[in-house]
Amino acid sequence: MKESFNTFVIADPNKCIGCKACEVACSSVHNEENNIGYTVGTMTTPVIPRLYLVKNEKFCAPIQCRHCEDAPCANACPNKAIKQEGDIIYIDENCIGCKTCLMACPIGAIELLPHYKNEEKVIQLGLEEEKLIAYKCDLCKGKETKACIEACPQNALRLVDIKEDKKNKNIKAALGLMNL
Ligand code: SF4
Ligand code: SF4
Repeated sequence: MKESFNTFVIADPNKCIGCKACEVACSSVHNEENNIGYTVGTMTTPVIPRLYLVKNEKFCAPIQCRHCEDAPCANACPNKAIKQEGDIIYIDENCIGCKTCLMACPIGAIELLPHYKNEEKVIQLGLEEEKLIAYKCDLCKGKETKACIEACPQNALRLVDIKEDKKNKNIKAALGLMNL
């Protein structure tokens, strides 16, 4: 058995103000091939994030991939475009935009969005239509920090190590028992 579970980023809806700083930061770090820097004014392509703000009259919070241990999206992908590296599940360049993973993901963590390269929208060969591919959180694969966590002005996002979380809850519960 794996010694640890995959980690993931989660938002606290009690802190999130819906400013979308996380979506913009996510788009920036994942679009270096489009010459996008980390400052306002360098974005020449639309914001293409990998976490998605959900808003209604009662709450707002971004939803992102939980990096499931038995990932339904990876199991369902007919093109083997969803892979695991360490504790990161990511979508690679083999994605054909068939939407199977969108249907398989239980929390709606995947979106189909246009593909840009060198600041140009990629056009699908044969159909002369924009090419759409699946995007989801890859925990900023290959980077030291998580862009969304760094960018959030409300500190509403955190990286969860669920085993560590459980241990802390157990300790809290045990301390609660001692106070009885
Ligand atoms: S995209 Fe959805 S199904 Fe796939 S690993 Fe993330 S949360 Fe799980
Ligand atoms: S949309 Fe892409 S990643 Fe999703 S199932 Fe289809 S080929 Fe796989």
